[in-house]
Amino acid sequence: AAMFDNLSRSMEKAMRLIGKDGTLTAENMKEPLKEVRRALLEADVSLPVVRRFVKRVEERALGTKVIQGVTPDVQFVKVVSSELIELMGGGVGAKELEPGFPQIILMAGLQGVGKTTAAGKLALHLQRSKKSCLLVATDVYRPAAIDQLVKLGAAIDVPVFEMGTQVNPVEIAKRGVEEGRRLGVDAVIVDTAGRLQVDEDMMGELRAIKAAVRPSDTLLVVDAMTGQEAAGLVRAFNEAVDITGAILTKMDGDSRGGAALSVREVSGKPIKFVGVGERMEALEPFYPERMASRILG
Ligand code: GDP
Repeated sequence: AAMFDNLSRSMEKAMRLIGKDGTLTAENMKEPLKEVRRALLEADVSLPVVRRFVKRVEERALGTKVIQGVTPDVQFVKVVSSELIELMGGGVGAKELEPGFPQIILMAGLQGVGKTTAAGKLALHLQRSKKSCLLVATDVYRPAAIDQLVKLGAAIDVPVFEMGTQVNPVEIAKRGVEEGRRLGVDAVIVDTAGRLQVDEDMMGELRAIKAAVRPSDTLLVVDAMTGQEAAGLVRAFNEAVDITGAILTKMDGDSRGGAALSVREVSGKPIKFVGVGERMEALEPFYPERMASRILG
């Protein structure tokens, strides 16, 4: 796991700084905490998120009783690890999609983050758990986006509802969900238009689509390469459409991983899936514990 090499190296250094026969005191944790802070900033986690994290680690570590037979350096790493797990949503395993019949999943996110790909991946994922799906294409601004979804649908054998580019996206979404109900599918996945930056038009359209289809899930698709900007992005989308979770894409790339740590901290919402490649099969549930051990190396 190259992306968090810095943190694992810092943890090694931190452990040396604490030593095997000291105790966890504010004084001997000073340098190790600085190491953790530096590593997280290098992993492109946003500063307020880093500050809160380091503060919690310090408080927790100071309050930790010395466990018989466990050296302080090991104990320090344990605290960092459990706080990381906590930061990413706790150790209770992967979060499922919200229930509903049909489940209505609204996909949101900036252009190019992998939203349409993630819509297809989710459809395949549901299909493999014996759930039938309908994909709905509402990106009327880019005909290529509609074609892309139609092609994805054909490749995984999932029907795609589209009305071309001359109909209002809110209307298409509404009709799409009606079509899903008519077909009796288990899930309707509504892909939406993204823009290069957060803007009021996009948020207004998303809000209108959300009000029209009343989704069980509103998933924000975030590119793992986003880094620190993820914090502002997640906040903006969550405030506008109250997301139920996120999908972190391109985790197979050499991302520094900051986005993974920001999502929960900023929105209180879980990462539900991660995208690990371009293929339709390349979608995995998100496990905070696995991610934390990957981070710590
Ligand atoms: P959209 O504009 O958000 O709908 O983005 P697309 O779904 O069209 O994806 C943009 C590009 O990212 C495409 O070339 C995808 O193949 C690629 N992509 C999407 N998800 C992943 C992923 O998890 N890993 C990698 N390596 N590429 C991805």
